[in-house]
Amino acid sequence: MNFAVSDEMEALISTIRRFIATELKPLEQEVEDKGYLEPTKAKEIFQKSKALGLYAMNVPEHLGGAGLTALETMMMEEQFGHTTDILVRRAFGNVYEVLFGANELQTQRWLLPTVQGERTGSIAITEPEAGSDAAAIQTRALKTPTGWLLSGRKHFISDGLYSDYFIVSAVTDPSAGSRGISLFLVDKDYPGVTVGKDQMMMGLRGTSHIELFFDEVALTDDNLLGEEGSGFKQILTTLGRVRLAQVGARSVGKASHILDLMIEYAGNRYQFKKPLGEFQMVQQMIADSVIDVNAARALLYRAAWEVDSDREDRDWISMVKVHAAEAANRVADRAVQIFGGMGYCKELSIERYYRDVRISRIYDGASEIHRSVIAKDAMKSGRALFDSMPIGGWR
Ligand SMILES: Cc1cc2nc3c(=O)[nH]c(=O)nc-3n(C[C@H](O)[C@H](O)[C@H](O)COP(=O)(O)OP(=O)(O)OC[C@H]3O[C@@H](n4cnc5c(N)ncnc54)[C@H](O)[C@@H]3O)c2cc1C
Repeated sequence: MNFAVSDEMEALISTIRRFIATELKPLEQEVEDKGYLEPTKAKEIFQKSKALGLYAMNVPEHLGGAGLTALETMMMEEQFGHTTDILVRRAFGNVYEVLFGANELQTQRWLLPTVQGERTGSIAITEPEAGSDAAAIQTRALKTPTGWLLSGRKHFISDGLYSDYFIVSAVTDPSAGSRGISLFLVDKDYPGVTVGKDQMMMGLRGTSHIELFFDEVALTDDNLLGEEGSGFKQILTTLGRVRLAQVGARSVGKASHILDLMIEYAGNRYQFKKPLGEFQMVQQMIADSVIDVNAARALLYRAAWEVDSDREDRDWISMVKVHAAEAANRVADRAVQIFGGMGYCKELSIERYYRDVRISRIYDGASEIHRSVIAKDAMKSGRALFDSMPIGGWR
């Protein structure tokens, strides 16, 4: 077992860190105050990041990305957690791995322009009546002699106002349950696609979360992503990696950034003629946060190793999703406490972090859903999770 980071990875992490500190951090408060990122500034950070080769790095090399391993991707995503999701999207891109299964035509029309930063897509699965139960969607794609007719609605679609296409889940065979769900690539300007309201959120300022309506949108087989009926499986497999990166790794990064601020404040803020950090009850909050961050990071790297080793990774991803998200929430809560009134005051970033991290326990599968995955898997395989050699050996 070797925990050393390679020289290349160290260099990449330093570059990302510097970029975030110099180019993105200064924009955070402005985005928070205005509720959006100026298009000129979005373009500027995109161009600078692209020039440094930092755009769309999660993509395989042959498609124009950096060809990083899952472990390397998580180290990179952990750094992304130091800033806000909207700035990460604009500066470093957001290419969903489900697109790697695109055919040649789809690769040219959707995937490659996304890798280049010429197009942006969102994933549209959730519906008002189907959230945690993603197989209960009502959106239908009816087969026609020329292709498909898509009808239904979605909501909470992240970055939907900015996106120009959507990866949409729809029922293609109502009699087949989750095996009757397929994915479609749907451009926003197709006739029959309507954007509804932007649903205002507690945090994550600067981006949109929209309703989408589809009224007999005419699609062809060119819009069908992967095999007909494989949509749910594609969602489970590829979105697991997105979850590990965008929730797991970014939660670790966010928690570690908040912890840094907490330690600095505890050293500089004096009460009763002593720095706060000399009070044992404050030390306990710092110690618990250090343990939370490092435990979450260790779990994240282990899960990434499972992915890289082509092992069954679903329960590991769920463990990271629950633990890293909840650790970040605990750390943010302790930070508000240590910062006292300033932690609750909008003059500092702590109250924003507190609001921003809350969603990590809900989206991409609520903690309760992931806990049931972990429990069912543990009961099925009788796996001793803390044993380096699980009962029955490695799978
Ligand atoms: C800011 C934000 C961004 C989002 N971005 C996207 C996006 O880009 N694309 C997209 O498709 N969706 C997106 N979503 C939707 C998100 O994935 C769902 O909100 C999430 O899956 C939960 O679904 P729900 O909100 O309908 O909650 P529900 O399914 O109604 O669940 C509510 C609560 O009930 C409990 N619960 C539910 N089922 C169970 C169970 N089986 N066992 C125990 N407890 C249970 C959990 O505590 C859960 O939090 C986003 C949501 C938000 C808020």
